Amino acid sequence: MATTQMLEKESNPWEQQAARFNLAAEKLNLEQGLWRVLQQPNREIIVHIPVNMDNGQLEVFTGYRVQHSIARGPAKGGVRYAPDVTLDEVRALASWMTWKCAVVNIPFGGAKGGIICDPKNMSRGELERMTRRYTSELIEFIGPEKDVAAPDVNTNEQTMAWMMDTYSMHMRQTVTAVVTGKPLNMGGSRGRREATGRGVMIICDESIKKNNMTRESTRVIIQGFGNVGSNAALLMHQAGYKVVGIGEWDGGLYNSKGIDITALWEYRQKEGSVHGFKGAERAATEDLLITDCEILVPAATESVITSANADDVKAKILVEGANGPTTAAADDILADKHVFVMPDILANAGGVTASYFEWVQDRQGYFWKESVVNEQLEHIMVSSFEDVVRYAETHKVNNRIAAYMLAIDRVAYTIRQRGIYA
Ligand code: GLU
Repeated sequence: MATTQMLEKESNPWEQQAARFNLAAEKLNLEQGLWRVLQQPNREIIVHIPVNMDNGQLEVFTGYRVQHSIARGPAKGGVRYAPDVTLDEVRALASWMTWKCAVVNIPFGGAKGGIICDPKNMSRGELERMTRRYTSELIEFIGPEKDVAAPDVNTNEQTMAWMMDTYSMHMRQTVTAVVTGKPLNMGGSRGRREATGRGVMIICDESIKKNNMTRESTRVIIQGFGNVGSNAALLMHQAGYKVVGIGEWDGGLYNSKGIDITALWEYRQKEGSVHGFKGAERAATEDLLITDCEILVPAATESVITSANADDVKAKILVEGANGPTTAAADDILADKHVFVMPDILANAGGVTASYFEWVQDRQGYFWKESVVNEQLEHIMVSSFEDVVRYAETHKVNNRIAAYMLAIDRVAYTIRQRGIYA
């Protein structure tokens, strides 16, 4: 039985990332030097951000931006606001962005940012001032060709609008391509908001095809009803999947006959929460992770499937909508149970892929129809799925290690060709 202390260590995202990286690097026979290079982030920035709060107090928040790699292009990755953000977490997330962009073969490196704060208890004005000061503290390190931010946990299109505006004011010109996930009227892309959820659905579609299943006979449980979970749930419901469970941070919903997700969306729009929705029973989110279903989609935070509950997971297919929802110790348990795992660096790559489209559109000043975005997204997600599964079969490794190997191989190839400047 795992103790709390053991679980805490098991749940450190940086160690989770390192465990998979080391395993994949070893299987690839990666040379020691490149191993050392890719093991560490390229640059880690810590900023202390003074913010005038509404009550007249001056508060100081700690923020991070970690750029793991710029080998294949500008650093790319979201910014999250949460009370439990740590440097190790942001480091891990930055490395995952490098691997994710390489798995889907888009010309970006990897980065991530975070601010330790409690956004649920901050006013709009406080969030705006914090976002602007954070952006200005990073001014010389970000830019369309340097490092391009995007939304992540507890940040959204409005946050990106403030970041874009702050950067643009410093540059004395509007620079839309400095962030992605912006509102449509200021250089955002059609389809970006739904893209991570759409990518999750595409990966579910490919996974059920591979396992000879149909949408209609597939029960799905989704943990998280934020941008990723709610869009995946809606698209999958509309496509004919039976979404039987939705887990939120403060409790979930279950209906064995399937939840009407369109009605749930309307309900949440009106009430601000999924609680009290009549079309399902209340269920504890921890229980939903181990409830009978064909596909489980953890789409909230890190380390929710650990050595403590992996053995109880009933799903046949695990599609990681969140970054790092499964610990390395849980990987082995899931492998023994023959769960078909679609790792985060493939399964949730739809978001950054549409971000790439947004960046391209901003730089060209020419904007695509939504059908073009969705078509290009589908093409990239399907071919990346095929690449990862083929790699796993050829090299006799699980899908996660295959995705890491494919990614590390691509990044290492570029670094070898560019050479090390010294
Ligand atoms: N935050 C998202 C992720 O973890 C999107 C990143 C991006 O679009 O740059 O993939």
